Amino acid sequence: MPRTSSESIVFVISGPSGSGKTTLWKRLLKEFKDITRSVSVTTRPPRKREKNGRDYTFVSEKKFLEMIRKGEFLEWALVHNHYYGTPKKNIENAKKKGLDIILEIDVQGAMNIKKSGIKAVFIFVAPPSLNVLKNRLKKRGDVSDEEIRSRTEIARKEMSYIWEYDYLIINRDVEYAYNDLKSIITAERLKTFRAIKSLKI
Ligand code: 5GP
Repeated sequence: MPRTSSESIVFVISGPSGSGKTTLWKRLLKEFKDITRSVSVTTRPPRKREKNGRDYTFVSEKKFLEMIRKGEFLEWALVHNHYYGTPKKNIENAKKKGLDIILEIDVQGAMNIKKSGIKAVFIFVAPPSLNVLKNRLKKRGDVSDEEIRSRTEIARKEMSYIWEYDYLIINRDVEYAYNDLKSIITAERLKTFRAIKSLKI
């Protein structure tokens, strides 16, 4: 689909672990070559199959704190005892290239972006219920019962931020949810104040 706007849009996506948000944006990046994503910096150790620079930039706590001090982050937060942050340069680079950019960040980070006044589109991906979320986490197989309990509790807290978001995708079925996400992208690109920029009159 050709772009109708020349301005970069920042899309912030949040949602509980197990909501399916990562699957959705990964699919979007495959289809839309004019959307990029922000690779976050974290102090959490890499998981199996994760690659430095692709999934995250993995750094020591010392390095992360130094980056905070130098003002290199657009936002950062402590999530599940590890630091996570969005480097300012990710947004700057996307802007230079004229690409829209996706930030998959937690609710605290999203709220910090909102407070900072940066213009962004906020999308929340929710499971249809906490029970569905529990069952999805169980199916993953690699999550202990204790972790399932704690993640469900965290999810409950995260869901209380839903009203702060511009859009809510309830992920009952991945095909429908993906179509919802694409509709949001298209609707935002077609907003008159953006689309008008490519109108030649
Ligand atoms: P995970 O460690 O499972 O990849 O991510 C844990 C949580 O950290 C997720 O909710 C994810 O959205 C969030 N997260 C990832 N990168 C960032 C970031 O740069 N900033 C913030 N605030 N949260 C992040």
